[in-house]
Amino acid sequence: MLVKQDNFLKNKLKEVFGYSQFRGNQEAIIENIMAGKNTFVIMPTGAGKSLCYQLPALAMEGTAIVISPLIALMKNQVDQLNAFGVNAQFLNSTLTKAEINRVKRETINGDVKLLYVAPESLTKEETLDFLKQANITFVAIDEAHCISEWGHDFRPEYRKIRGIIDSIGNLPIIALTATATPKVQLDIQRNLQMDDASVFKSSFNRTNLYYEVRPKHQTKKQVIKYIKKNKGKSGIIYCLSRKKVEEIAELLKVNDIKALPYHAGLDAPIRMANQDAFLNEEADVIVATIAFGMGIDKPDVRFVIHYDTPKSIEGYYQETGRAGRDGLEGNCLMFYSYDDIVKLEKFSKDKPVTERDNSKLLLQEMASYADSAVCRRRQLLHYFGEMYNKDCGFCDNCVHPKEKFEAEKELILAIKAVQQTKERFPMDHLVHVLMGMKDQYVESYSHDQLEVYGAGKEHDAAYWTSVLRQALLFDYLEKDIENFGTVKISAKGAEYLKKPHPIKFAKDHNFEEEVQQEEEK
Ligand code: ADP
Ligand code: ZN
Repeated sequence: MLVKQDNFLKNKLKEVFGYSQFRGNQEAIIENIMAGKNTFVIMPTGAGKSLCYQLPALAMEGTAIVISPLIALMKNQVDQLNAFGVNAQFLNSTLTKAEINRVKRETINGDVKLLYVAPESLTKEETLDFLKQANITFVAIDEAHCISEWGHDFRPEYRKIRGIIDSIGNLPIIALTATATPKVQLDIQRNLQMDDASVFKSSFNRTNLYYEVRPKHQTKKQVIKYIKKNKGKSGIIYCLSRKKVEEIAELLKVNDIKALPYHAGLDAPIRMANQDAFLNEEADVIVATIAFGMGIDKPDVRFVIHYDTPKSIEGYYQETGRAGRDGLEGNCLMFYSYDDIVKLEKFSKDKPVTERDNSKLLLQEMASYADSAVCRRRQLLHYFGEMYNKDCGFCDNCVHPKEKFEAEKELILAIKAVQQTKERFPMDHLVHVLMGMKDQYVESYSHDQLEVYGAGKEHDAAYWTSVLRQALLFDYLEKDIENFGTVKISAKGAEYLKKPHPIKFAKDHNFEEEVQQEEEK
C-alpha cells in the first residue's frame, strides 16, 4: 500500500510539475498531511515549501485552502499552477462580484484544487458560509510566522485563523514558514493549537553563502569598488529608505553600473519594469527596500549587500538568502553602524509598548551579531535553534580571526551570577549584578549582597554582554524563551563550574578602532 502511494506521489510530481525527485523532507511532509495529521514545516526560503501543500491538494478529492498574506504572492502561485494545468483560484479584494461568484461555484462543484485566500477575506461571514458548503481537504497556512508577534512581519488577523478553521470543520492544518527562531516557532504552534503537529525542520545552513560585516565608513566608495570587482554579476543592494534607494541607484549609474531602483513608492509599471529588467539580466544590480524579493526566484544572484543595518536577524537571513539559490557562489555583505540601530529604534518610538520592546530586542540581537567576532554561521544557526558546534571557515570572522582572550575567570563568574540569582533573570540584569550596579531589581532582590555582585566591575557592560553571549553560544548557559529570556545553567555549564579549565573567547569587534587603523595604513 505504502509503495503504491509512493509511486502515486512521484508520478504526480513528474506529471504535473515535471520534477523527478522530491527534495529534502517534501515526501514525508506530503504523506503526513495526506494522512490527516497536523503538519508544521520550517524550511529556508527557496527549499520548496509550496510543493508540500500543492501536490497533496492535487492528489486529494476536494479543495485545499491556502492562506497567504500577500495578493502578489497568491497571484504568482495561482498563475504558475494554472500554467501547469491545475485549477487554482484566489479570493481577494481584487476580484469583481461576478468573479467571486464564479470561484465559489467552481469550488462547491469540486473543480478547484487550491483556493488561495487572504486572512482578511477568510474572516468575512459570507466566505465562511460558502466554505462550509465546499469539500475542504486541509488548510495550508503559508508564511505562518505572520501569526507571531515575535516575528518580523506580524499580521494581527493571522491570529484569528484557528477559530475560523474550527468553524469550517475538523480540518488538518499544514503551517509553513522560513522563520526558524524557537520563540516564533513556539508561538505559531501555540496559536494554532498544534502542539500535536509533526514538525519537519530543515537545516538553515546555507553552506555556499559567505557572510561578511564591515563598518559603515566610506560606504559608497566601498560599494562601488565591490561591484566593479564583481562586474557583470547579479546583485541586490538593500537600503532602509526609498530616498536612499534612489540615491544609491543614481550613484551606481553615474559610475557605469547597470543599476535600477525598486521600492513601493515607484509607480507600479516602473517598479515592474525594473524588476523584469533585473530578472532578464538587462540590469545587473537592483537597489531596493525590503519590499523587493518576497516570492522572487532568481537563482543566480551572486551578492546581497545591506547598505543599512537590517532590523532583525530574521530579515537579514531572509534577504541574504536570496543570494546563491542555485547553490553556487553567494556573497553577503552588510554595512553596520550603531547609529543605524539607534535610528531604527527611534522608528518604533510611537508603536505600542510590546511591539516597541520586541523590535528593540531584535535590534539588540542584530547589533550583537555584527559586533561579535565569533563565526557568523555559528551565530546565525544558534539564533535559529540549530546545533552547529564548529567554526565554518567561510565567513569574515573565520577567515580573519580576531584576537582571543583567556576567559576562564569570566566564564566562571558568568555562570555563578546565574546560579546565585537562582536562574530567574535575563541577561541585562546579570550584567548589572556583575558590574555592581544599583537598580530597582538589584535592590528589591538584595542582589548587592551576593558574592558575584561587582565582581566584574573592572569591565564595562559591552564586555560582560559579550561574555554572556558567548557562554550561551557555546552552550554553558541557555535562554528560557518561554520565560522572558531568563538565563539558566546548562548541563555543560554545571560541569564547567565543577571542573573549570582554560578557555578562549573572542574579543568583540571595535569597529571605530578598526576604521582608524585602516586609515593609518
Ligand atoms: P519556498 O516557498 O520554500 O521559498 P518554493 O516553493 O518557491 O520555495 O520553491 C523554490 C523553487 O524550487 C521553485 O522554483 C520550485 O519550483 C522548485 N522546486 C520545489 N520542489 C522541487 C523539486 N522536488 N524538484 C525540483 N525543483 C523543485
Ligand atoms: Zn565562520
